[in-house]
Amino acid sequence: MISSPEPAYDLLIVGAGINGAGLARDAAGRGLKVLLVDQGDIAGATSSTSTKLIHGGLRYLEHYAFGLVRESLTERETLLAIAPHLAHEQRFVIPHTPAQRPRWMIRLGLALYDGLARGSSLKRAQALALRGTPFGQPLRPEFAHGFAYSDLATDDARLTLLNVVSAAQLGAQVMTHTKLVGARREGTTWTAVLQAADGTQRECTARIIANVAGPWTVAVREAIVGHGEGRESLRLVKGSHIVVPRLYAGEQAYLLQNDDGRIAFVIPFEDGFSLIGTTEVPLDAPDAAPQIDAAETDYLCSVVGRFFQAPPAPSQVVWSFAGIRALYDDGQGNASAVSREYRMTVDGGPQEAPLLSIYGGKLTTYRHLAERVLERLRPWLPGLRPAWSAAVHLPGGGLGKRGLPGLLLELARRYPQLPPDLLHALARRHGTLAARVLGAAQTEADLGEHFGAGLYAAEVDYMTDHEWAREADDILWRRSKCGLRVDEAGRARLMSHLARKARAA
Ligand SMILES: Cc1cc2nc3c(=O)[nH]c(=O)nc-3n(C[C@H](O)[C@H](O)[C@H](O)COP(=O)(O)OP(=O)(O)OC[C@H]3O[C@@H](n4cnc5c(N)ncnc54)[C@H](O)[C@@H]3O)c2cc1C
Repeated sequence: MISSPEPAYDLLIVGAGINGAGLARDAAGRGLKVLLVDQGDIAGATSSTSTKLIHGGLRYLEHYAFGLVRESLTERETLLAIAPHLAHEQRFVIPHTPAQRPRWMIRLGLALYDGLARGSSLKRAQALALRGTPFGQPLRPEFAHGFAYSDLATDDARLTLLNVVSAAQLGAQVMTHTKLVGARREGTTWTAVLQAADGTQRECTARIIANVAGPWTVAVREAIVGHGEGRESLRLVKGSHIVVPRLYAGEQAYLLQNDDGRIAFVIPFEDGFSLIGTTEVPLDAPDAAPQIDAAETDYLCSVVGRFFQAPPAPSQVVWSFAGIRALYDDGQGNASAVSREYRMTVDGGPQEAPLLSIYGGKLTTYRHLAERVLERLRPWLPGLRPAWSAAVHLPGGGLGKRGLPGLLLELARRYPQLPPDLLHALARRHGTLAARVLGAAQTEADLGEHFGAGLYAAEVDYMTDHEWAREADDILWRRSKCGLRVDEAGRARLMSHLARKARAA
């Protein structure tokens, strides 16, 4: 890229997690010239390692975070409307004993939660008798009563990815495996130094830099403006999940209130598995590849063991993942109590190129965060077009009134020779774009090499050609969760297929 008096981009976004992806989509849709860079894969860090809930956060009510809960519940409804293929209602059961928070307190909290979600299409909360009921069936007999409430479950990595796909459709340029290593300000223009995975560097110019680097936000700000005054700080807390073979029949999830004041979730996951999380382990510095440790696995199994008749054993864990919560440090001692609200700061005066940095936040609030970022940048973006992203489906999300069942019927009609399980998996991953993945194929043989678990070359090629996938893990764990079922031989064949494609490119 050659430096010119007119910056090449209006907005350079550092970080393709959910917040960078959502910002890229919103900004590109308002006609801005956007460049989105990430040092790794899209959603390669925190945004593929969350509990995968679009939620108000029931427990944040205890910290009087009413504004955050309200904002999140409004976003819950918006995301259900714009990404119905990626978000579905999830009913949660809260088993209760007298030793826990009193029943009146939970009842009041749930009433407040429903109240703050005024106009929501989800089922309202209710008190439940559990003994002898399907919801009580997996639980130990002492849990005779409980409550049920609803939130949304999603696929965090694909939600992030589809925001990037949308941004690119709207004209944004996307560079993965590209790290911002520094930038210098020359009046109203930034010249940023970008480094590819092979170490080669290039420069590019932009009016504004948005630093949405999650756990690395402090490091990226320091790489750009140094250790200046007014530096905000982050609390970094590792959170891990385990996945085990499904612990019970039924589609309900459980919110378990542990004795240590923390909560754990048990959530149905990818037909046939249960997702259990999460832990809280303070970290001093961001870790590029955080891993669960044995003590965390034991902790999660033992929390479930307090409530379930047949708890999981560490030996049953088929997959685990860990991510880093980057929490805006509001001085609270306890990690559970630290605010999940985000903060944004701007370095640079009205006549200077600004650097905007985001600290903290949630998956749930990414879309609204993007709107607030652009509003904050309005002084540097004269003529900025109005907000739009709440009313337009993410790619593949235009399911119409008949929703996912309607799409499945349509796919079964168009592809009568393909197995219903395969069509279902493709519909969940790609929504209406499933037909684009399948193209003219009519039989499984038409879909090319099979790597296992319903993953065929046709979908892999779609993911490399349209979704920036490069490596086996990009496909097995982020663009799909086929990694849960593809065996070592299938993985090796997938790696050979990707290597052949890369050589041919
Ligand atoms: C265990 C856990 C459970 C959670 N559960 C939920 C939940 O259920 N619901 C919810 O709403 N929220 C949840 N969250 C919070 C949510 O996951 C995060 O708030 C969100 O994913 C943060 O997204 P981000 O885009 O800010 O950061 P990230 O996803 O971390 O993205 C930052 C990106 O910046 C890139 N980057 C860093 N430095 C550079 C550089 N120099 N150059 C280029 N790229 C760079 C990184 O590679 C990374 O991809 C959870 C978090 C954790 C850890």
